[in-house]
Amino acid sequence: MTRILALANQKGGVGKTTTAINLAAALAALEHRVLLVDCDPQGNATRGLGAEATAPHLYQVLVGEATAEAAVRPSGFPHLDLLPANRELVGVEVEFAGLEGWQGRLRDALAPIARRYEYLLIDCPPSLGHLTVLALVAADGVLVPLQCEYFALEGVSELVATIARVSGSFNPGLEIAGILLTMYDDRMNLTRDVEREIRTHFADRAFTTVVPRNVRLAEAPSHGLPILQYDIKSRGAEAYLALARELLEDSR
Ligand code: ATP
Ligand code: MG
Repeated sequence: MTRILALANQKGGVGKTTTAINLAAALAALEHRVLLVDCDPQGNATRGLGAEATAPHLYQVLVGEATAEAAVRPSGFPHLDLLPANRELVGVEVEFAGLEGWQGRLRDALAPIARRYEYLLIDCPPSLGHLTVLALVAADGVLVPLQCEYFALEGVSELVATIARVSGSFNPGLEIAGILLTMYDDRMNLTRDVEREIRTHFADRAFTTVVPRNVRLAEAPSHGLPILQYDIKSRGAEAYLALARELLEDSR
């Protein structure tokens, strides 16, 4: 069984990439085969794994200059492969405007290799543009990181509407796989208020696991390492391992 999850939220800086890298690494550490697809021109998931988006990268795959098979490479961490991206990927937002049938291109490109993996995680950019739609069409579930702050739910209705539109037109099986609370600080009343609001709003779709605010998580990408390799004893490492286990239990 292969599960394809898009990490999406058009709000910037909520923990999409941190979750993509560290959930991918945690699933891989539990000996599941994982492909991390960097679908953001910022290339943060690529560089956070200490990699570079040398050719062929995701842009070339999406415009048909290369196959996913050629672009996928080992990440250097056991069981974890990477399909990297760089700034060239921004070209998709312009070039696919007005093109017919672009929506299925990532899905179709990944189809020949998807079955090699148990999980494909797709890191989306902070927008609801073409790149996020490509990821939503390719995915069977959406994992939505929400930062525990006052405006956490702002824009979520727009994301939910986009998911509904994509599922109605291109991908009937698409669903919200889970809401993940990130940068959680239980010493703050605000965090607890936001948590209560989110758990009321999303009921059982919110993961039990929360990701604490943890400086080690912020440091790890500058060393090109997932948190499990950077500091396995940190609260951040614990949280992403717990999230991986919760996800694995869900999918049984
Ligand atoms: P963008 O929308 O720009 O793609 P994003 O949603 O992918 O952003 P991240 O890049 O994962 O968000 O996180 C934003 C910043 O917050 C980064 O500097 C990251 O290191 C830091 N960060 C993420 N999660 C945590 C955490 N749990 N504790 C502390 N810092 C965190
Ligand atoms: Mg990001």
